[in-house]
Amino acid sequence: MQASRSLRMVTGKTRIVAVWGYPVGHSRSPAMHNAALAELGLDWVYVPFEVSPQQLETALRAIPALGILGVNLTVPLKELAVPLVDDLDPAASMIGSINTVVNKQGRLRGLSTDGPGFLWDLERKHIEPDGWTVLIWGAGGSAKAVAFALVARGCRVMIANRTADRARALARALGECADWVDWGSERYEEAVRSARLLVNTTSLGMIPAHADEMPPVPPGTLRSGQIVYDLVYAPAQTRLIREARAARCRAFNGLGMLVCQGALSLSEWSGLPLSGIPIETMMRAASDSLRDTV
Ligand code: NDP
Repeated sequence: MQASRSLRMVTGKTRIVAVWGYPVGHSRSPAMHNAALAELGLDWVYVPFEVSPQQLETALRAIPALGILGVNLTVPLKELAVPLVDDLDPAASMIGSINTVVNKQGRLRGLSTDGPGFLWDLERKHIEPDGWTVLIWGAGGSAKAVAFALVARGCRVMIANRTADRARALARALGECADWVDWGSERYEEAVRSARLLVNTTSLGMIPAHADEMPPVPPGTLRSGQIVYDLVYAPAQTRLIREARAARCRAFNGLGMLVCQGALSLSEWSGLPLSGIPIETMMRAASDSLRDTV
């Protein structure tokens, strides 16, 4: 596999885009972004940096000095960066999280492409969720991004989270289109049964210690006609996806969202329209990078 990867020449003119996280070694973003940059013929390179929460402000301040064009932020930096950028996108301000920083002539603009990336991936799958009833498992950063994006599309959103207080707080922040439910309660069973789209934003299924775990699904509640979307993309088939398919639901993992949010970031940095971003190449590269590590 290694030999088939083309090495790109870094010159004195090469510009840098990056992903920062802590840790960052697991990130698939370098594979998919460098594949896109090569196809676009841009003399840019996309590199991972391990940036600790304590070093985040110093690192952000160095972006203009180093001439870095932009960065993606991943766990645990997305929320910490919000007060540190110069200009904050209104949607990012609402969810309190940014995954993309753009260097605009020395001013740092922060935005989140997670919610739009999720919606775009649904669109690519020919799913138009406008006005649907949606159950979201989880109440962390990605739950907020997905929930606000869905509410903006007229969905009625039900939040279910292990820690009920966080579910309640997110539902309150979302406004009257949202409610929360205690997982395990009778109302919860009804919420699973009646949702047209069910989205797992918890890390259940991802962490090796929880690889075979999933949010609670009462027996007989899933059925054909429902769509289950698991934000987890490694492993590609979580237990939730397997069980949803066994119940004849359509079920997807989070690889498409990962690629779509990355494509949106690349469009922001480059100024290229989305139609100019080689999304299929990014999809292939992300998917290959997952296979390489299995
Ligand atoms: P956060 O840390 O912000 O939130 C984690 C969520 O998972 C919380 O709701 C937490 O519940 C829940 N959780 C964690 N462990 C458990 C457990 N053992 N049992 C039940 N619930 C649990 O993380 P993010 O929202 O940033 O990310 C969540 C997942 O989404 C990750 O797997 C991440 O990889 C994935 N993701 C995928 C993206 C994509 O592009 N496909 C984009 C962003 C994220 P509690 O409040 O009770 O702690």
